[in-house]
Amino acid sequence: MPRKARDKMLPYARQLIGEDDIAAVVEVLRSDFLTTGPVVDRFEKAVADYVGTRYAVAVSNGTAALHAAMYAAGIGPGDEVITTPLTFAATANSVLYRGGTPVFADIDPETWNIASEDLEKKLTPRTKAVVPVHFTGRPCAMEDIRQFAKKHHLVVIEDAAHALGAVYRGKKAGSLGDMAAFSFHAVKHITTGEGGMVTTSDRRLYERLLLFRNHGITRKPGRWSRQEGPWYYEMQDLGFNYRLTDIQCALGLSQLARIEQFLRRREEIVQRYDQALCALSSVGLPKVLPDGRCAWHLYVIRLGGEIQRGEVFNALRARNIGVNVHYLPVYLHPYYLHLDPDRYYQGLCPEAERYYEEAVTLPLYPGMTDDDVDDVTAALGSVLAGCAGSAAVL
Ligand SMILES: *Cc1c(COP(=O)(O)O)cnc(C)c1O
Repeated sequence: MPRKARDKMLPYARQLIGEDDIAAVVEVLRSDFLTTGPVVDRFEKAVADYVGTRYAVAVSNGTAALHAAMYAAGIGPGDEVITTPLTFAATANSVLYRGGTPVFADIDPETWNIASEDLEKKLTPRTKAVVPVHFTGRPCAMEDIRQFAKKHHLVVIEDAAHALGAVYRGKKAGSLGDMAAFSFHAVKHITTGEGGMVTTSDRRLYERLLLFRNHGITRKPGRWSRQEGPWYYEMQDLGFNYRLTDIQCALGLSQLARIEQFLRRREEIVQRYDQALCALSSVGLPKVLPDGRCAWHLYVIRLGGEIQRGEVFNALRARNIGVNVHYLPVYLHPYYLHLDPDRYYQGLCPEAERYYEEAVTLPLYPGMTDDDVDDVTAALGSVLAGCAGSAAVL
């Protein structure tokens, strides 16, 4: 039965705001503090508790979280940081902000996460850190990554922007390295509008993160180099204003209370997609995870055979299905290609480039109805059936 066409674009991601969220924000608006007040602390403690780390530092967005983590890790000019090209540009950009050099290791063709085997190949005496990205919410092979990092004295910074709630061998993403960066952008698992968080269990890193978030300024007398008086504060390093507001943290706290509900709904939608799409022989589905929980930030399919990704993408958009592509390998952005053509060039990470040619992100967010999901799979089925080179059976 052909389904009725959608008259409005189904987005690929969308926030889910409830009356509790609105009430929590309004409460802060009526209170004494709008910016750095008590709700920031409460949100930080709640995220640290949820993730299973000792500390969490709220910052203005996920990019600031990565930048702060690079600072805390001591990344500076001449230092190399190994990461995946299959991520949002901010992951690698945060290394450049510190004057360091992002080094891209290829992805594993099965999990689409950074390939453990490629890490040693990218190691040089200048390597200081490794940044695994739990792509789509699927935890990286952290055991391999941690062993590699330990052997070569590297800092491990998880980019956990896709992975709030993901679990690897009994531990949550965000507690699997020395530090982790989260984003609370509206498309992520929970939102504060814009917002981010760094989690860590290391006291020294925690102190550095606090300094960096607030201009490099400390108000703690015990940390000053000299005593001037009670009015004094001391700028000890060049930091930023990366603070998150109480207004945003109230929204974050309220959202975090519903994280399990959000994750479950994402899992249900994924099951519905899997069931409907497994019959399409030209569609590669995301792999299930043997030793953990995927947080399902994104549902990505890969189109096999002779199917042109662009053709399918355009046909789905024409049917108001808000598909997307995550991601162009970061080093293929013109900025990177121009920055250092000897280091960043087409062909650098063949698996990531092959993935990019075939990938389509389908809509996935907790507010999606089963009917929305069925619209997507029906549209995809009929688009593929009409595709040259498609062996789709319906
Ligand atoms: C969203 C995202 C970021 C950046 O977060 P912002 O809050 O948008 O700055 C970084 N890395 C990944 C993998 C992301 O998905």
